[in-house]
This record gives sequence, structure tokens and C-alpha cells, in this order.
Amino acid sequence: MSPAACRVVLFLSVCLGASLTGAEAGAQDCTGKLGTSRVMQVDPVGLQVGTKHFPQTLDLADREVVLTFDDGPLPGTTPAVLKALARECVRATFFVIGRNAAAQPDLLRREIAEGHTVGHHSMTHPMTLADIPYDKAVADIEKGIKADDKAAYGASGTRPRVPFFRFPGFGASPELLTYLGQRGIGVFGADLWASDWNPMTPEEQLALVLARLDHAGRGIILFHDTRAQTAKMLPAFLTTLRERGYRVVHIVPALPKTATAP
Ligand SMILES: [Zn+2]
Repeated sequence: MSPAACRVVLFLSVCLGASLTGAEAGAQDCTGKLGTSRVMQVDPVGLQVGTKHFPQTLDLADREVVLTFDDGPLPGTTPAVLKALARECVRATFFVIGRNAAAQPDLLRREIAEGHTVGHHSMTHPMTLADIPYDKAVADIEKGIKADDKAAYGASGTRPRVPFFRFPGFGASPELLTYLGQRGIGVFGADLWASDWNPMTPEEQLALVLARLDHAGRGIILFHDTRAQTAKMLPAFLTTLRERGYRVVHIVPALPKTATAP
């Protein structure tokens, strides 16, 4: 990646597309692409964001978006989503289901190798965690985190590598929110969504999410990388973001605060 190729990147003097690992990414030219405009370090402690569910959201400027994809990884659709993101030098966040991560560790590792953030979305995707007994819900959350980290990094510790969580079906209860808060795990809702759980053509999908985005002007957008209609419309969606002056913000967890020596 030449410095000239990075001029399209706003805010940061870092060309994120250039730092992708792997031969394919290394050969990538991000000139004229949408790109990732900046990286936002998000402190997960006490975090509850997404105005569909919480009073507050991330500190995004007008026309800034955070792209999130739930429920993967899944062969077929997830690789198509990754290809579309890579082609526009864009980084996203995947909230993965533990059993899918365990079944597709190579896909999960590819997401990480290509610079995306991988957060958690429970082990079995109960609909919803708020509607099953608390102990079972906590166990499903913890199993999911362990399965994700084992598949991604080969081992799981007490603290998830990426302490980001999204509730399946946004089914949170006050008790589970308290639990995650005590674990230092940030909770992500969304500011708008594609409604891609409803079957529609890629063209209809594209029109719907663009209309919602133009209305909102910014925000955390929820897609599903398990949906073919989403994978198919994503290239056109990203091209349109560029044409309309939207900028993609990549979220990563802030490093844990270390205790100062006495
Ligand atoms: Zn889900």
C-alpha cells in the first residue's frame, strides 16, 4: 500500500486496509474505496449502547456508521460478506453464535485475520435469554464466549478477548444486564437495522436499509451475515455509502485499565 493509496482515509493517518494480514489483503489497493475512516476504542465497562434499546449510543458524528453482523459464521454467506468488506477496505464487527464459531473456526479466524472485531452472541441463540431461567441464560452466555474464544484463539480465559456482547433478539433482562456489567462486558444494541430476518430481494433489502440510514443519518447498523439477501446487496450498499458521503467507524475494545502501583 503506497501512502497515496491512503489519502482517501479521513481522520486517521493510518490506512487500515493496508494492515490486513495475508497475501490477498497485502495486495489490496484501497484507492478510491470506502475505507475505514477511524477506529473507536470502546470501554466495555458499563457499556450499553444502541438507541433501539438504550437511551444512549456511541459517540458518532453525522454520517458515521458502525457495521455489525450477527449470527455467523456460516459457510456461503459469511465469506461473501467478508469479500465485500475487503473489497471496500472496510472493517466491521461480528457478533457470533458459539456453536457456529465452534463449527467454523477457520471462518472465525479469517474474520479476525482480516481485521474485524469478533464479539459474542450466546452459545445457542435462545429467543430470548430473558425468557429462560437466569442460570440457564448465564450458562449459555458463558458457553458462547468460551466456544468463540477457543475457536478463535485456541484457548479461553476468564475474561473474553473482546468483551462485547449482543443479546439474541435483543432479549435482555435487568438481571442479565447487571451480570454482564459485573463481568465488564459491554452490551451492544443497534441504532437501526436491516430487518434482514424478513425475506426480501437484495434490491428491496438495499432500498430499505438505505432509507433507514438516510433517515437516521448515523448509527450502529445491524445486519446478519447468515442471510443471502444481505450478502448479495452488501457490495452495492458499501458503494452507495461512499457515494453519499458516509464514513465507516471500526470499534475495538479499549485496553483494560491497569491498576496504578501504590
Ligand atoms: Zn441473532
